[in-house]
Amino acid sequence: MSLSSSRVAVVTGAARGIGAATAVRLAADGMAVAVLDLDEAACAPVVDAITGAGGRAMPVSADVSDSTRVQAAVARIAEELGPPTVLVNNAGVLRDNLLFKMTEDDWDTVLDVHLKGAFLMTRAVEKYMTQQNWGRIINLSSISALGNRGQANYSAAKAGLQGFTKTIAIELGKFGITANVIGPGFVVTEMTRATAERMGMSFDTLKQHMAGEIPVRRVGEPEDIAHVVSFLASENAGYVSGQVIYVSGGPQG
Ligand code: NAP
Repeated sequence: MSLSSSRVAVVTGAARGIGAATAVRLAADGMAVAVLDLDEAACAPVVDAITGAGGRAMPVSADVSDSTRVQAAVARIAEELGPPTVLVNNAGVLRDNLLFKMTEDDWDTVLDVHLKGAFLMTRAVEKYMTQQNWGRIINLSSISALGNRGQANYSAAKAGLQGFTKTIAIELGKFGITANVIGPGFVVTEMTRATAERMGMSFDTLKQHMAGEIPVRRVGEPEDIAHVVSFLASENAGYVSGQVIYVSGGPQG
C-alpha cells in the first residue's frame, strides 16, 4: 500500500467545479476523500464517481463559515474515514459589486466563506495533522487577489488567504505540515458561468473573450487546478511551503 492510500483528504465546496475535480483527482491518487459542501445530496454524484472507480469517499454537509458545524463535520470525517491530513479550502461564493453598491452583507458573506471558512476548517483539522506529524493544506485564492474591478470583497478575502497561508506555513512547518496557495485564473465552472450571466453575455462569448486574453490562448478547466493540488498534496512536495502558485495560463500574478 502506498502512503497516499492511507491519507484522508477533505475538500470543501466539492459538490461541483474545481472542488469536485480535486476530490476525484485526490481519490485517483489513492486518498480517501471527504466531499464537503453545503448540501450533502449535492455531493452524491462526486462520491459515486469516486467509489465507482474503486476509491473511498463520503459526503459531508457543512457550512464552512459555521464553527459548530465545521467541528462536527471534521469529527465525523475522522471517525468514519480516519484522521484527515490533507485539507483543500476551496468553498467559495461571489457577491460582486462596485464599492458604492456593495452592501455590508455582500462583504460579510464573502469574507466569512473564503477567509473565516479557511480559518475554521484549518483550525479543526490541524490537530489530526500535528498528531500524525504530517499534513498538507492547500488554499484556493485567485488572480483577483491582485485587484479586480467589482470584487473589493473577494479580492480582500483572496489576498487575506495568502497572508493566512504564509503564517500557518511558518507555525506548522515543524509538524511536517505544509501550507500553500493556488491562485487560479479563469476556470470554466458554475461560478464563471454566473459571472457571464451577470455581465449580460453568453458563457461562450465570455470564454472566447477570456481565451483571447490568456497567453496559452485557452480558458482553464477544473482539472488544471486539481493537477496542481495533487502535486502540493503529494508526499514529495514536503519542501514546498508558504508559496502562492498562480495557475492562469500565463504570468498574471
Ligand atoms: P463553484 O462552481 O461556485 O463551486 C463552489 C462550491 O462551494 C459550491 O458547490 C458551493 O455550494 C460551495 N459553497 C459555497 N459556500 C459554501 C459554504 N459556506 N460552505 C461549504 N460549501 C460552500 O466555484 P468554483 O469556480 O469551482 O471555485 C472554487 C474555488 O476556486 C473558489 O474558492 C473560487 O473563489 C476559486 N476560484 C475560482 C475561479 C474560477 O474561474 N472558477 C478563479 C479563481 C479562483 P452551493 O452550490 O450550494 O453554493
